[in-house]
Amino acid sequence: MRYEEFYRQSIDEPEQFWAEQARRIHWESPPQQILDQSNPPFRRWFVGGTTSLCYNAVDRHLAERAEQLALVAISSETGVTREFTYRELYWEVNAFAAVLRSLDVGKGDRVVIYLPNMAEAVFAMLACARIGAIHSVVFGGFAAHNLALRIDDAQPKLLIAADAGMRGGKVIPYKPLVDAALNESSAPPPHVLIVDRGLDPQMTRMAGRDLDFAELRRAHEGVEVPVTWLESNEPSYLLYTSGTTGRPKGVQRDVGGYAVAMALSIRTVFDIAPGQVMFSTSDVGWAVGHSYNVYGPLIGGATSLLYEGMPTRPDPGIWWQLCERYGVHTMFSSPTAIRVLKKQDESWLKKYDLSKLKWLFLAGEPLDEPTAQWITEALGVPVIDNYWQTETGWPAITLMPGLELKPTRFGSPGLPAPGYKMKVIDENTGKEVAAGVKGVLVFKPPLPPGCLTTVWRDDDRYVYSYFSHFKELLYSSLDWAVRDEDGYTFILGRTDDVINVAGHRLGTREIEEAVASHPAVAEAAVVGIKDELKGQVPIVFVTLKQDAGDGTGAVTQAMQQCVVDQLGGLAKPSRVYLVNALPKTRSGKLLRRSLQALAEHRDPGDLSTLDDPGALDDIRRALERGPDQGS
Ligand code: ATP
Ligand code: MG
Repeated sequence: MRYEEFYRQSIDEPEQFWAEQARRIHWESPPQQILDQSNPPFRRWFVGGTTSLCYNAVDRHLAERAEQLALVAISSETGVTREFTYRELYWEVNAFAAVLRSLDVGKGDRVVIYLPNMAEAVFAMLACARIGAIHSVVFGGFAAHNLALRIDDAQPKLLIAADAGMRGGKVIPYKPLVDAALNESSAPPPHVLIVDRGLDPQMTRMAGRDLDFAELRRAHEGVEVPVTWLESNEPSYLLYTSGTTGRPKGVQRDVGGYAVAMALSIRTVFDIAPGQVMFSTSDVGWAVGHSYNVYGPLIGGATSLLYEGMPTRPDPGIWWQLCERYGVHTMFSSPTAIRVLKKQDESWLKKYDLSKLKWLFLAGEPLDEPTAQWITEALGVPVIDNYWQTETGWPAITLMPGLELKPTRFGSPGLPAPGYKMKVIDENTGKEVAAGVKGVLVFKPPLPPGCLTTVWRDDDRYVYSYFSHFKELLYSSLDWAVRDEDGYTFILGRTDDVINVAGHRLGTREIEEAVASHPAVAEAAVVGIKDELKGQVPIVFVTLKQDAGDGTGAVTQAMQQCVVDQLGGLAKPSRVYLVNALPKTRSGKLLRRSLQALAEHRDPGDLSTLDDPGALDDIRRALERGPDQGS
């Protein structure tokens, strides 16, 4: 079927469309009603149907593909690769579920999972799904305070943690972070289940509280745990947003709607058929990891590659080597990772046989044109930019090569996915804007299956965070967008990343693009700072491609001129700071709020999501040194 027809049907006849899509998964008992929207902006999909994420991801495949690889967990940090067929996955998940049961974890209980990208993270998630417990995976790179915040919000019955993770060959002990988090937490769970890889010989255990997973697993090996069937709208898991813009929100997902969205998207968006291989380089702690390392590929009967390590170790060819070895069909990564690889020798890309690789999907942040162009040419496969949020759980704007490949357009993630009633509206009038005019990206309820059902234990926050921005009841993405004549959507940055210069509102991202159009610029970050006269003025932090030598003054002026030429004098950055690195979150997103705070001599705020704490020192030094001479 062609994209237009497919999309149209999802909007014009949603119940018929989703009733059809629901057939992609196993229902223990069928839905009684496809959509209940009696209480907007809440909505319930597949009401009355009972199903299980675990059954659909594991048990269902035993009849036809028990001996096929389900999961390959590769660690370039420990040097260990572990392969599991669907049959082996079944037994691992059952043993894990039995361990959970023995710790009195049952339906509706929360389990916080604090593990790196290792097979046990997948087993733990599926084991929770099997018994109807609600998992909340916390990214392993988060510090104690972040973990404590999430524990306090989720109030788990159990915390599952690793002894340690590794990054760049260095062991990062998790247990001291766990201990500190539980000390800080007001709702510490009675037990911590430790998956010990023997990485931290100094690890201490608290008698009675801390339990050894391997020991318990041995006691429960071979036990089969029956599936707990859940009503489609019961919670399956919680996942906190990245916290780029403030206190993270506990995104709550359902069971049936999410399973259907996974089954649909793995096939029609990611073009993965049963038996094919999907390699997502995400971390299980992110939305992409949940959907396209775990649930999507497994519900789709595919083989999923899970990777612990950096893209450049042991060498920058490691990902392409894995693509060759496992015959990867679809790869999914982030623009940040590709930018890292772009700095390496291109010959690494030519060393391996990538003839099976059909698509590279990239998401999570704007995909700049130079990066997109470089990787497209280097790989020789289409690069599919796709836009989504932790909240949506699957791409909201994307091309769907599994259905029909539309031409890609640099800088655009493409067209709305099925069920997303997308509009770009004027922030003041709420009216839809014309092609070429910038507005706020919104979705008209009901949100499609797979998207969040609410904010955990905070229905009010769900309504006011997402649906209270306009007179009409609309889900605000909080991102700016513009559509072209053909409906291709371009994302222009976050609505809170706006600078108000003398009453004119300027998007930080537009100014950054103008600065980055100067050939010497590697990356730019623009923030607005207080100005007595104009209210706010933009300033810019820049990393350069190579040492600009004595000519930095000239480069600075040229950058400012780029902005003036493209956006006008009002947007001209009043100061330019050349720095070595920009502060990014662990998920690769620019931490503008911290940059702005430092520039305004305020506390940079919660820095626990920061990837490299050193980057902020660099910014501080640059601010002390003063701006580079421009005009
Ligand atoms: P928080 O909501 O807690 O501030 P966050 O928004 O960074 O954190 P995520 O849900 O991980 O958390 O990120 C979603 C955001 O990432 C989108 O709203 C958008 O700003 C950006 N994004 C994702 N994919 C793309 C893309 N393909 N192009 C441009 N921006 C993207
Ligand atoms: Mg967000």
